Amino acid sequence: ITVTDLVNESYKRIGEVDGKVRAFLTLDEENARATAAAQDVQLGNKDTRGLLFGLPIGIKDNIVTEGVITTCASQFLRNFNPVYDATVVTKLKEAQAVSIGKLNMDEFAMGGSNENSSFHPTYNPWNTEYVPGGSSGGSAAAVAAGEVYFSLGSDTGGSIRQPAAYCGIVGLKPTYGLVSRFGLVAFASSLDQIGPLTKNVEDSAYLLQAIAGHDPKDSTSAEVDIPDYISALTGDIKGLRIALPKEYMGEGIDPAVRESVLSALKLLESLGAVVEEVSLPHTEYAVAAYYLLASSEASSNLARFDGVRYGVRAENPANLLDLYHRSRSEGFGAEVKRRIMLGTYALSSGYYDAYYLKAQKVRTLIKQDFDKVFESYDIVIGPTAPTTAFKVGALVDDPLTMYLNDILTIPVNLAGVPAISIPCGFADGLPIGLQMIGKPLSEATILRVAHAFE
Ligand code: GLN
Repeated sequence: ITVTDLVNESYKRIGEVDGKVRAFLTLDEENARATAAAQDVQLGNKDTRGLLFGLPIGIKDNIVTEGVITTCASQFLRNFNPVYDATVVTKLKEAQAVSIGKLNMDEFAMGGSNENSSFHPTYNPWNTEYVPGGSSGGSAAAVAAGEVYFSLGSDTGGSIRQPAAYCGIVGLKPTYGLVSRFGLVAFASSLDQIGPLTKNVEDSAYLLQAIAGHDPKDSTSAEVDIPDYISALTGDIKGLRIALPKEYMGEGIDPAVRESVLSALKLLESLGAVVEEVSLPHTEYAVAAYYLLASSEASSNLARFDGVRYGVRAENPANLLDLYHRSRSEGFGAEVKRRIMLGTYALSSGYYDAYYLKAQKVRTLIKQDFDKVFESYDIVIGPTAPTTAFKVGALVDDPLTMYLNDILTIPVNLAGVPAISIPCGFADGLPIGLQMIGKPLSEATILRVAHAFE
């Protein structure tokens, strides 16, 4: 089998299913075929192959790719052609993965269903009447539907883990700072992380190995040694101490999800782990704090889209103010505008102490909840999302319920810790996700436990 065969297979599958799933925004077929042809020459020479040699990958459309349109699923950037690659894309090229194309998402990564894409929704491959989750819904659906081997997503409040859960695949949000954000279009810079969406845990370890590491181009990038994630998959979890937060299993959690998580924990116990109930008492304040902080950061980050430098410019402006005003009014969708308004309000003088500062304090309390539990436990385990995927259209007019859905993933971003979602069962034909949360930089442990469970 050649790399060209793999790439052909990928586009063939896309031709067969993407009319229904609609995971892709842009296909990069010409480049992919040229890369594949070049790699075929290298086939016989094992020593020269990169870690991900010849493997078809999809990339979320908020990660910039040189010469390939990068839209963030926004009308504002529908013609934006980046002049450089994100660091993760450079690293993928070094590892010799083959980029197949760019994947759909909620506009600027704001959302949890992919219905906020300004182009079209993506549909859940298990049942196309349901959403694939979001905001990395295209990234999750493309992997679940077999269109690519794996993909990259970004996670600000759950956007890798929740779609992975809804689509029955593995999604990993690394520790804040482990993977470079250079070239990731910023949503909320203190929360955003890029990470892998894969079919299984071993693939997740490989992809993380390829993209992790210090980057001088990202000032928040951690200067740490990268362990060997692949050899961490030993299968041994004897004596592992697992914490089950009671707040993650209470009201609002679907009984089928709860049962599935409990039986997953039984299995882990049978492998030699110890499970005990703990409390993360500030969990109930996480959603409110997150939507204030993330929107505040977004209102500032998105100020760069003014119609002058990037993307689409309003036609025939009367003056500069009119140019800004109309470019932004026409370019941004409703959810993005909602967040910019909320964030601008929260940051305005007179309200700053009452909202932004208070939310920062809540963030610290949530971080301390985790610190305390990690003094006596190796890992925190619970559901990834309160329910399985919901129907397309069910929550489009109800942003608050949509926001509350993120209750189990948001605390992880606020604390900056790593977490993985892996499949642990089904309810009514739709996958359920199990979330494993670790100490900072304990990706090797999370992957080891997830692999033992799988
Ligand atoms: N659903 C959350 C939001 O809308 C998370 C998004 C994300 O992680 N990018 O903000």
